[in-house]
Parts: sequence; structure tokens; C-alpha cells
Amino acid sequence: MSFFVLTACAQEEKPNTETSRKPNIEKTEAEWKAQLTELEYEVLREEGTEKPFTGEYVDWKKEGVFVCKACGNPLFSSDTKFKSGTGWPSFFDHLGDSSVAEVADNSYGWNRTEVECWRCGSHLGHVFEDGPDPTGLRYCINSVSLEFQEK
Ligand code: FE
Repeated sequence: MSFFVLTACAQEEKPNTETSRKPNIEKTEAEWKAQLTELEYEVLREEGTEKPFTGEYVDWKKEGVFVCKACGNPLFSSDTKFKSGTGWPSFFDHLGDSSVAEVADNSYGWNRTEVECWRCGSHLGHVFEDGPDPTGLRYCINSVSLEFQEK
């Protein structure tokens, strides 16, 4: 019986909160540059941030799934999108465990949590603990990191 309890606990460990993780898709920088626009490359591969209120999906209201612009991995559902007023698409949750990875980001002297695509390691945005119910989380994501797939 104890074996099963241990197994159940092990499965509850979040695979998406590791601090050093090898992406499942690895491409050379030249390959990424050939595939992405200049802005997409800057955000996804160099951890840049698009200017607020400029992204295609800030006020997007269609129902469907947002996938990673770099690799197509499903990341966020429109069901969890909310109006944050920040100028970036905001979600209070992500899809399953293989959608995003959360990584400590101490750049610029801030203690932030970076959100990466679980599959390809591309930068998506950051997650903050000032979101709405039911999670209290706010995934602040660059539009340019996303691609929308209608339901
Ligand atoms: Fe990806």
C-alpha cells in the first residue's frame, strides 16, 4: 500500500518548476532566426518584451487555444484569459504540465518568475501572484510569443 502512496506523491511533483531543464526541441540560433521574425526572435529567444498595448492578442476574445509561436506547443486556453489592463495578454492559468516551465529570473535586480515554453524553452513572459481567482496568478505573456488556434 505504501508503494502506491509514494507513487502518487511522486506524480504530484510539478515537472514544470525545475530551475534547469533541457528543452525537448533544440535548434541553432541560425535555425530560430530563419523561422521567426525579428521581433519574435528578440522576445522568444532573447527574453525580450514587446511594447505594451501593441500585441495582436491583448484584447483578443475568440475561444480557442494559444500555442507557442516557436514550436506549436499548446500553452493557454481562452477560458483562462482575463483583462488585466497591463497591455499584455494575461491568463490566470496555463494548460497541462507540459505547457510551460517556470524559472527564477533575477535579471534587472528583480525577483521575477519567467515563463518558458515547456517544449522548446522559448521565453513567453512572466508570472505574478496578483491575478484573479481561482489561482491568484497572472501569466503576463507577450502576444508575439503566441499563435491562436480557434476552437
Ligand atoms: Fe515552444
